[in-house]
Amino acid sequence: MSDCIFCKIAKKEIPAEIVWEDENFIAFSDINPLSKGHTLIIPKKHFRWVWDVENIGNYFEKVREVKKILDEKYQPVFVELKVLGIDVPHAHVHLVPHY
Ligand code: 5GP
Ligand code: ZN
Repeated sequence: MSDCIFCKIAKKEIPAEIVWEDENFIAFSDINPLSKGHTLIIPKKHFRWVWDVENIGNYFEKVREVKKILDEKYQPVFVELKVLGIDVPHAHVHLVPHY
């Protein structure tokens, strides 16, 4: 998907504040955060919906790793997990810390 903004972030073609990454996934700060530390985790490969991601269980294990990073960094009361995917057509999970 050459015109997908999250594919461009995954390929480092446009800047993002990267929180964590490995070979297949990358986590970065939301550009319009709902709270301090609002983070998006995406597969580097393009999928339209979270439902479509290969090995979705592994994806959510990574989401939990990033949640632990947010816990240590910001010490929120809890971290909301949100999956919408209406605005950007590349699978992504929101982690929104609550204070
Ligand atoms: P959703 O598709 O789940 O409704 O929301 C998409 C999310 O992506 C929004 O929270 C929006 O602020 C975020 N977003 C949209 N474009 C960019 C961008 O270019 N960079 C970053 N870091 N976040 C973005
Ligand atoms: Zn994409």
